[in-house]
Amino acid sequence: MGGLFSLQVPPANRDAPHLSSFPPASVTRYHPEPKLIHSPGMELTPRQYRALCSICDAFLPAAPGWPSAVERGVPEALAVALDYNPRVIHRWEFINLLDFWDSPFHSLCEIGTLTRFSDLSEDDKCRMLLSWADSRVAMRRAAFQALRKAVGFLYVMLPPPPGGQVSAVWRKMGYPGPIGVQRPDAPKKLQVATPDHETTLSCDVCVVGSGAGGGVAAAVLATAGKEVIVLEAGGYYDDADFDGAELQGFERLYTECGFASTRDHSVGMLAGECLGGGTVVNYTTSFRTPDDIREEWAEAGASWIRGEEYTRSLDAVCQRLCVNQNHNRVSRREQVLERGLRHLGWHVDAMPRNVIGCEQGRLCGYCGYGCSIGAKQSATKTWLSDAQSHGARFVVNTRAERIRVQRGAATGVEARTKSGHRVVVKCKSVVVACGAIHTAALLLRSELENRHIGRHLHLHPVSNISGVFDEEILPWEGTMQAIYSDQHRFLTGNFGVKYETTALQPVIAMAVMPWREPRDFRERMEQLRHTSAIGVLVRDRGEGRVTIDREGHPVTSYSLSDYDRRHMQFGFRGAAHILEAAGARRIYSPHAKLCSYEPGKLGSLETFVHDMDAAGWENAQVALFSFHIMGTARMGDTPLDSATNPHGETWEIKNLYVMDGSSFPSASGVNPMISIQAIAHRNAQVLAGRAH
Ligand SMILES: Cc1cc2nc3c(=O)[nH]c(=O)nc-3n(C[C@H](O)[C@H](O)[C@H](O)COP(=O)(O)OP(=O)(O)OC[C@H]3O[C@@H](n4cnc5c(N)ncnc54)[C@H](O)[C@@H]3O)c2cc1C
Repeated sequence: MGGLFSLQVPPANRDAPHLSSFPPASVTRYHPEPKLIHSPGMELTPRQYRALCSICDAFLPAAPGWPSAVERGVPEALAVALDYNPRVIHRWEFINLLDFWDSPFHSLCEIGTLTRFSDLSEDDKCRMLLSWADSRVAMRRAAFQALRKAVGFLYVMLPPPPGGQVSAVWRKMGYPGPIGVQRPDAPKKLQVATPDHETTLSCDVCVVGSGAGGGVAAAVLATAGKEVIVLEAGGYYDDADFDGAELQGFERLYTECGFASTRDHSVGMLAGECLGGGTVVNYTTSFRTPDDIREEWAEAGASWIRGEEYTRSLDAVCQRLCVNQNHNRVSRREQVLERGLRHLGWHVDAMPRNVIGCEQGRLCGYCGYGCSIGAKQSATKTWLSDAQSHGARFVVNTRAERIRVQRGAATGVEARTKSGHRVVVKCKSVVVACGAIHTAALLLRSELENRHIGRHLHLHPVSNISGVFDEEILPWEGTMQAIYSDQHRFLTGNFGVKYETTALQPVIAMAVMPWREPRDFRERMEQLRHTSAIGVLVRDRGEGRVTIDREGHPVTSYSLSDYDRRHMQFGFRGAAHILEAAGARRIYSPHAKLCSYEPGKLGSLETFVHDMDAAGWENAQVALFSFHIMGTARMGDTPLDSATNPHGETWEIKNLYVMDGSSFPSASGVNPMISIQAIAHRNAQVLAGRAH
């Protein structure tokens, strides 16, 4: 069994080259007949390489002032990026797709010609791509979306070649590129270690994962006098490392380099993978758990959540994170939201944020790649620092593979460093806080059998409606989220949508930008500096699931339920309404088919709504994302309907606790960080109070 579930470290995490070293100086043009492309990431045959190059250039061929995707080095970078996805089956599918793509049979099936894709005209290549985009088969649509995103992401993210100035793509978009390190001398205050040989450690409590939940658990337990070791899969980065570069930011700080998604690629999932987890990359929005959600979770079995005890933990968390509403300068991007909401007479309020001395200007928009001035009160700045002051030790770049269990109780954790060294932590209790995808995977690899583990996945599916304005907006700048609207939070009971915006760094914009043909796509990219987008975040009642593959890697499935789709539809309409009220001259949705209108000129809100319905709401017909991953090991009052008891202890294994977003009995309805921390704060106190 051990062999079956031994987690493989993706090659990119070993000694493989880093994406940010792309494009290599040598990659300047398409080489039509290479013998064997020994891509540093993955070996491709000449035929596969030719297919990949022609796909990349079909999406983004050269045009005046614009390099082609191949000239940008996208195919080589894409082969490296694949190594961030550890799942053998996904690589195998990709290779198969490339083998098939450039065959005469493929062209015959799609557009009735025997000419290979790579020899087709630009128009015919587009027709072929669109036949995938608009296919009735969800897997084909999903393959198109995966390619669109991968090519688009890398096209805008790749830095200029060594010695180059600003990338030509950034110049065309008006994007100034990274801000550069702002505090090069800022000290790294946490002491971390990564074993360089097989190692056994021991402590009272091993906390696995150092993000929102794990950080708090480590601090509370260490402060209570427990000897704590924190195991963290990612590395330690702090102010002096943060330069706002997108590619480097994703490589260092995000799970699967930001390319993680559900099994069918229909929902992109963003999560932090570094010391501090999501709290290092997140947008600092700090909502307390709303009363209606507290009541719902109490009803679901965690009755303490409705009472004083939880209020005290919320207070303690907000105090430690310095949550305040004094850093809410509204950027040009959000002036649009504010203007539209006020015009309509809709709800608008200032966002509570966990920052001290936030710049709220140009630098702030790059916060998703780490706060370069140390204003964000991430777990590294707060809880992990407290934990260290009370003796906690941090082992980084080390991934937990399974929990050790003896006579029904957790006795330790088996882990492996990125360079492959085995680490065993012997302990009296284990706190699992790997985020809702990896917590479920770790419990499943450890052979827990409770049927709720991995189920009840909530994602708060979110997407943007974009508006193009006459004025210059520079949407990559400004306070991450200064304001929000709850106008439609209660559409059906306490289910509905929130309206929030986020800084549109090129790659974030790319994530939802529809592609129908290169010219129109480039035009949208050029318009980005005049674009603002409103995020529609759905409190989902429907659920997905996390399972593991043969190697033990998590596999996530999720589809929008009909119930949630109705709310998403309503929210998209609402967001367009806001943008129209704010004076947008062109509004478009993230559908695979183009849904767009020009208020007062071409189409109307009603035709837009109609077009979106015609374009469809099935998987991969509309680009969805998740920043909030929750619920896969939920608390409850019996093992029949939950994975853990109300204190976070698993029903099956004593001394094994879950303290992260997995514990939520249902979706939090608001951005979850504060709720995760408050639950961990309370449950870690319960654990600290237990005699061993
Ligand atoms: C870009 C972005 C913006 C966001 N903005 C906001 C916001 O403004 N407000 C808000 O409330 N929420 C926001 N969120 C969500 C919030 O950050 C997360 O919900 C929260 O961090 C999740 O906490 P967690 O403890 O469940 O997991 P995480 O914080 O994700 O921490 C899990 C940690 O476990 C580590 N890990 C995983 N597997 C293993 C393993 N096997 N062994 C060892 N370590 C492992 C990971 O590397 C990670 O560091 C945002 C998220 C993202 C990605």
